Amino acid sequence: MRDRSRWVCATVRRLALLGCVVLLALLCAAPPAAARISAGQTGFRVLDYDARLDLRRPGTLHGRVTVTLVVTGRLPPVLIFDAAGLRIERVSSHSGAPLPFRTDGAHLRLPSSRLRPVAKRLRLDFRYSATAGRGLRWRGEQISAMFHTRRWLVCVDQPAARATLTLRLLVPRALTAIAVGEPRGRSDARPNGSLYTFRLSTPHSPYLYGFAVGRFRRVVLRRGGRRYLVASVRHREVELRRVAKRLPEMTAFFEAKAGVALPGKRFSLVVLEGAAAQELAQMAFVGARYVDLLLRDPHEDWLLAHELAHQWWGNRVTNRTWSHFWLHEGLVTFMVAAYKEQRWGRAAYEREIQLFRRRYRTIVSLGKDRPLVHDRWRLSSEMGGPLPYSKGALILHLLREKLGTPRFWRALRRFTRRFQGKLVVTADFRRALERELGAPLAAFFRRHVFGTGLAGEERK
Ligand SMILES: [Zn+2]
Repeated sequence: MRDRSRWVCATVRRLALLGCVVLLALLCAAPPAAARISAGQTGFRVLDYDARLDLRRPGTLHGRVTVTLVVTGRLPPVLIFDAAGLRIERVSSHSGAPLPFRTDGAHLRLPSSRLRPVAKRLRLDFRYSATAGRGLRWRGEQISAMFHTRRWLVCVDQPAARATLTLRLLVPRALTAIAVGEPRGRSDARPNGSLYTFRLSTPHSPYLYGFAVGRFRRVVLRRGGRRYLVASVRHREVELRRVAKRLPEMTAFFEAKAGVALPGKRFSLVVLEGAAAQELAQMAFVGARYVDLLLRDPHEDWLLAHELAHQWWGNRVTNRTWSHFWLHEGLVTFMVAAYKEQRWGRAAYEREIQLFRRRYRTIVSLGKDRPLVHDRWRLSSEMGGPLPYSKGALILHLLREKLGTPRFWRALRRFTRRFQGKLVVTADFRRALERELGAPLAAFFRRHVFGTGLAGEERK
C-alpha cells in the first residue's frame, strides 16, 4: 500500500498525464463547424469507407477513399462531408465520371443533382492529400492518426454515422503498420513500400478509426480466446509482456460488469512517443511516459483500464451526439475506480472517488460547473474540461449508493447488453436504472445530470 507522500506524488503525475485525456475532452467537446454542419443530414447514410493512404513521404498523406452510401429518402440538394484541412483533388462517381464539388477548408459540399444511385446505393470516390496536424502526427519515423478523422479521411465525422472500414496503408518498407480492425495481409510489391490491409467489419464511429506506423517491437498474448497485442518503439519485449499480462484480468472484470464479451475478442495497445490517451476500435494509444510509470508502479493502471473500458462504453454503447459525452467518460472513469476496488481493495476505490471529488470541487470553485448534458455545442472552455469525467463518475458513485451495489451492477449490465452496438442518450441509461430500481429517477437526473451542483459533494 502506498504511503501518503507517494500517493500525492502519484496523483500529481497522474494529473499531468490526465492532461492529454482532458485535452481530448476539450477537443471533442468543441468540434469545429465542419463536424456540426455534417450532423443531422437526412436522406442518406454512410455504410462503408474503403481507404488507401500512401504514407511513404514524411509529413504528407496521399489518400483515396471510396465511400458507399445508402439512400434512405430524398437526397438533400447538397451532401456535406467533413474534410478539415484536406486538399481535395478529385471527386468522382463509381463510373469514374468527375463530379463538381466545393470546399471551404473544413468541409466538402457535393451537389446531389448529378448523383445516380444504383439499387439505393451510391459509391463516391475522393482523392485528396493531408499534412501533419491535429489528428495526424509524424514524430520521427512514427506516424499516428486518431480521433480527428476528418483531418485524414473524407468522412461524415459524427458519432452516430457509424460505418465499416477497409484501411490500406502504404508505408516505408522498414516500418510496421498497426490499425483498427483485423489485419488482412501485407504486400511488399510496391516501390519503397509495404501495403498493409485492415478490415473493420463492425460499424464504428469515425472518431474511433486510426492507425500507427513505426519500428514497433510487439508481443501477442492469447488468453481465453482473446488476443492482446502490445507494441512500442522503445520498450523491451519483457516490459511489453508485463503490460500485456494485465489485460486479461481487466478484460474479465469489464466483461463480467458489461455482460458482453470483449468486442471483436481482440485488443491492441500501441505505445506512442509523446502524449497519447485515445481509445480506438478494438485498440488504444497510450503515451510512452505512462507505460514507464505503469512499469514502475503496477498500481498506476488507471489509463490502461480507462482505455480498455471504452471498448464497451463509448465504442459499442455510443452516445448519439456529443451532448451525451458524459455517458462515455463518466462511466469509464467510474469503471476504473470499480476495477481498482476489485484489484487493489476498497481503499483504492475510495481514493479514486476522493480524486473525482477534489477535481469536481476545483471545477466548482472556478465557476465552471454546468449540466452534463448540453443540447448544443458551445465553446470548449465552457465544457468544463474534466467535468464529464469527474462529475460523471461521481454521479455513477451516487447511483451505486442509491440503488445498492448488486442492483446497480445488474442495471449497468442490463444497459450494456441492451445497447451494445447501438446509439444512446442519457434517457436510455436512466430507464435501464429505473427498471432495476422499480422507481423513477427523473428527479435525480434532473438535479445531477441536467442541473448544476451535486448532492452532498460540495460539503465533503
Ligand atoms: Zn476516455
